[in-house]
Amino acid sequence: MKKASFKEETPKLSEELPLSILIAEDNVINQKLLLSILEMQGYQPEAVADGRDVISSLNEKMVDLVLMDIQMPEMGGEETTKLVREKFKSAAPKIIAVTAYAMAGDREKYLQAGMDGYISKPFKIDDLISEIRKVMISP
Ligand code: MN
Repeated sequence: MKKASFKEETPKLSEELPLSILIAEDNVINQKLLLSILEMQGYQPEAVADGRDVISSLNEKMVDLVLMDIQMPEMGGEETTKLVREKFKSAAPKIIAVTAYAMAGDREKYLQAGMDGYISKPFKIDDLISEIRKVMISP
């Protein structure tokens, strides 16, 4: 008898793009959601809840990609991105902004603020995957 194998039908993104990822998100539910999506894609992301912790985490261990919530209690995503760029320069990770509400012109605004990509909550898994792909495989 043949076993059904639904699991391996879609290759995991991590097989195409092996990455170290840091999640910066202060909302526990959103943080868990991002963690589980990325884990399902084969990643082992770490998560912090504030911009200050992004800096200390990157000091400890640099990553390839940061998913950066814009609104966080101590230091928000825009300020954190600016600091990351200043501090780590060419060694800085790629940064995808994750915003609570989509507003017209957001993408431009966050790209100007030094982010490499942008998604707005609530997002679909495919939106996240295609943005990661876009940012990490940019020409
Ligand atoms: Mn937030």
